[in-house]
Amino acid sequence: MSDRPDLHLFTPGPTGSTPEVIEATGRPMVPHYGERFLTVYNRCIDLFKVVFQTENDLFLIIGPGTAALDASLSSALPDGARVLVPGGGWFGRRMADMCRAHRADVDFVEFPLDEAIDPEVVRRRLETADVPYDAVAWVHHETSTGVLNPMEPVAKAAKEQGALTIVDAVASLGGVDLPVDAWGIDLCVSVTNKCLAAPPGISAVSVSSAAWEAIDSNPSSRSWYLDLRTWRSYREEWAGWHPFPSTVPSNIIEAATASIEQILEEGLDVRIRRTAEAATAVRSGLSRLGFEMFTPDDVASPVTTAAYAHPELSVADMQRFLMDRSIFISGGLADLAGRIFRIGHMGRSIERGEVELLLGAIEDALRDAGISVSDGSSLESIWV
Ligand SMILES: *Cc1c(COP(=O)(O)O)cnc(C)c1O
Repeated sequence: MSDRPDLHLFTPGPTGSTPEVIEATGRPMVPHYGERFLTVYNRCIDLFKVVFQTENDLFLIIGPGTAALDASLSSALPDGARVLVPGGGWFGRRMADMCRAHRADVDFVEFPLDEAIDPEVVRRRLETADVPYDAVAWVHHETSTGVLNPMEPVAKAAKEQGALTIVDAVASLGGVDLPVDAWGIDLCVSVTNKCLAAPPGISAVSVSSAAWEAIDSNPSSRSWYLDLRTWRSYREEWAGWHPFPSTVPSNIIEAATASIEQILEEGLDVRIRRTAEAATAVRSGLSRLGFEMFTPDDVASPVTTAAYAHPELSVADMQRFLMDRSIFISGGLADLAGRIFRIGHMGRSIERGEVELLLGAIEDALRDAGISVSDGSSLESIWV
């Protein structure tokens, strides 16, 4: 059916899917309204809630993760809102930029690229603020550096000061534990195409009652499509027919449903454990080959491994070598371009056979560049 070679995506999104998910993606369109489709659609929402570990409202906003982030900020932040954005790396900065685009008064507390957010620093900022913050917005998994940021202590500090918690969990959902309600996340955003291993196209946002209070008392609106009030009113007023304000890609909904079903069949905890095992295997395999990790062990995310380029092989040359074998890895973003490379542990790439294929190919890339490595040295007893 396809003349495309088997691709091996080790990019931190998009991710390789299972044959069942690919099959669902290729199904013919069905009308995105009416009872038949709504059964699938509502099931997809219910499954997302299980992975989010939430009983809050949850909406599937059609678009990339950025769409649901924009919807969250647009809906919950009045013009001039005071927002604390702790973070390091590309996505942390981007969160600050997005808040500014929504006319917030942003305090960006920057942490070094290879460090996680320090919840104590956040707590002190919140406690000593002259004017209280309306919200704290941060990134769970910083995909540009492979750092996993703390959630519960940051959320707790925010809640104690009456600030809303807004989280970009685009890359972490399904790969690490994310109990949204237990941690007190008011607006939590994720997507189909990272750890949930489905095609891109749908973002999800959970909305707590505190978030609704903020949204309902927000006099500003900077969007209509990306206003959660619009989504809520369609959900209520068009419930039995078309509970969303615009067209929905039925095949992506079906693909996401299939993928989450597979994850839950396996067990979310098992999937999370296997993700961590894949990351450990890749980190130890790369270390054996002489690569230095960019992210220290104590803050390294199970979802993405970031490592420094080999001193004798450029990232671009390594990527080219791997691409000839249909293996895709990512380079560094912004200041880290050319200095690091990144390997995603999402979807198909966490399978043992895939990890071994990747490490074997990186060994070959080193050998091809005249760097001596003994055969299979990256694979020795890496799998726990
Ligand atoms: C991938 C990613 C995004 C962007 O998601 P889109 O679906 O491309 O909008 C945002 N934040 C993080 C942490 C990501 O990893």
